[in-house]
Amino acid sequence: GAGLPRPEHTRVMIVANQKGGVGKTTTTVNLAASLAMHGNRVLVVDLDPQGNASTALGIDHHAEVPSIYDVLIEGRELSEVVQAVPDVEGLFCAPATIDLAGAEIELVSVVARESRLKRALEAYQQPLDYILVDCPPSLGLLTVNALVAGAEVLIPIQCEYYALEGLGQLLRNVDLVRGHLNPSLHISTIVLTMYDSRTRLASQVADEVRSHFGESVLSTNIPRSVRVSEAPSYGQTVLTYDPGSTGALSYLEAAREIALRGAPVPNPAAPAENSH
Ligand code: ADP
Ligand code: MG
Repeated sequence: GAGLPRPEHTRVMIVANQKGGVGKTTTTVNLAASLAMHGNRVLVVDLDPQGNASTALGIDHHAEVPSIYDVLIEGRELSEVVQAVPDVEGLFCAPATIDLAGAEIELVSVVARESRLKRALEAYQQPLDYILVDCPPSLGLLTVNALVAGAEVLIPIQCEYYALEGLGQLLRNVDLVRGHLNPSLHISTIVLTMYDSRTRLASQVADEVRSHFGESVLSTNIPRSVRVSEAPSYGQTVLTYDPGSTGALSYLEAAREIALRGAPVPNPAAPAENSH
């Protein structure tokens, strides 16, 4: 991949929106693959009991496979569950199995129930540039664990009529977690997904999102593309399934934007009096 700046410290990005079907999982896996193809080391944490991110990455996640459930509930090390993603160098996945469906309830009685994921990530010694966490479509303890574990929230928004409805609840949760558990939490990135440039509605929604969220909205929109929706059934991201497709190119571009925005500000030129 092209030489993009690698972050100085691991960037943990929480992909959240309690609405289902807005492109959380699709964005997680395709951005992760794009970042890896740009030369980064990337871990995807699948926090959705459906395990769609695991499926899309071609990762075995049948009921017996050691998974993020074991990490959150049983206190197993992340290193015991992480698998390398076939075909994409530098990309890894902590899979979700169906066990995770019970975790929302089981976590209630676990010690430090909000910070299980944070502890697991801190104990994981592998050098990583990015960790992307794919959240379930709810704001329960799994999503809270994600919001406690990272600094950056990435919200995919589908450009449809009720796009902004329900986001208030997510924003309030982000504020609550920031206030009580994780002062560094902020909404760093908004990605417009399934964008159809031919419709007036899409551009209206995009304008509305941009006026609401300003700079955090990526200038790259992800177009609606059949190739993007086909890829998961082959256990692939669109980056390997159809690398030249508009979907693949837009995720690569979105990844580039994210990498460049997160890059440390270049050192200003040394003041003249210090330069000799
Ligand atoms: P979520 O994780 O928020 O529930 P998904 O990523 O699973 O959402 O996406 C919902 C559905 O929309 C899936 O069937 C997915 O294949 C499809 N989809 C997502 N992004 C695109 C896109 N850019 N073009 C076409 N289909 C898409
Ligand atoms: Mg999903």
